[in-house]
Amino acid sequence: MSIFEKIIAREIPATIIYQDDDVIAFNDIDPKAPVHIVIATIKPIPTLNDLAESDATLMGKMILVARHIAASEGIEKNGYRIVFNCNRDGGQSVFHIHCHLLGGRQMDWPPG
Ligand code: AMP
Repeated sequence: MSIFEKIIAREIPATIIYQDDDVIAFNDIDPKAPVHIVIATIKPIPTLNDLAESDATLMGKMILVARHIAASEGIEKNGYRIVFNCNRDGGQSVFHIHCHLLGGRQMDWPPG
C-alpha cells in the first residue's frame, strides 16, 4: 500500500485540500514552494508508464483540479508549475500517480 493510499484511507494524517471520486489533493509534507500541493489519483496506478488509454479522462481531470486549486490558492495570475515525476531519472519517490502543483515564487528553468 503506497503512502498516498494510506492518506486516502485516512490511516495517516494529511492536510486535504480537495477530494472527489477520482482524485485527492493535499499539502506536500516537504514543500518546495510557498504553495506545494500533491494531486493524486484515488485509483493506485504506480507510474505514468502504467497508464491505459482509458485513463485519459482521469489524467485530464487531474490537470483541471490542479488549475482550480491554483485559482483558489490565488496563484493563477502570477503562474504556477504542474510536475509529474516518473521513475528514477524523473525523481519519483512515491509510486502512485500524482502531480505537484507548485507556486507562490518564481520557478527556475531548467529544473534541477
Ligand atoms: P515524487 O517524488 O514526485 O514521487 O513526489 C512525492 C511527494 O510526496 C514528495 O514531494 C513528498 O514530499 C510527498 N510526500 C511523501 N509523504 C507524504 C505525506 N505523508 N504527506 C504529504 N506528502 C508526502
